[in-house]
Amino acid sequence: MSKIRIGYGEDIHRLVEGRKLILGGIEIPYEKGLLGHSDADCLLHALMDSLLGAISKGDIGLYFPPDDPKYEGACSKDLLKIVYKMVLDEGYKINNIDLTILAESPKLRPYIDSMRNSIAETLGIDINDINIQAMTNEGLDEIGKGLAIRATSTCLLVRSNNE
Ligand code: MG
Repeated sequence: MSKIRIGYGEDIHRLVEGRKLILGGIEIPYEKGLLGHSDADCLLHALMDSLLGAISKGDIGLYFPPDDPKYEGACSKDLLKIVYKMVLDEGYKINNIDLTILAESPKLRPYIDSMRNSIAETLGIDINDINIQAMTNEGLDEIGKGLAIRATSTCLLVRSNNE
């Protein structure tokens, strides 16, 4: 495989009452949370799909099926560690990651650096290689109405040896 590999992933989860809001591996105080089988961290799910895409290994549904009771309430940081080990085992490492969150509310700006730090610690990479953009959907469609949060991820991998 080539020296560099690009990957893209995206995810969306419904916002509902009675769930914690977990994004980027941290809990964000809010009246609603994301609905899902695991902790429903759509930012980390998008990130995992971009990593799997970059090494041509499909998507997270293949490895962590949503109907498998083993992953009920799973911490997405643990799943991310498993996926990044697959990347490292393929002989690649992360060069940089660019993430976007689309959410009408809550305002995510105060939590961006905590999310970057959480991802950097989970992956064992430099915080400066992780960017997170947060934007609203200008009131448009389900995200704009506050019914869901969507995330996208683009990652660049480089070969970890110097061949
Ligand atoms: Mg998901």
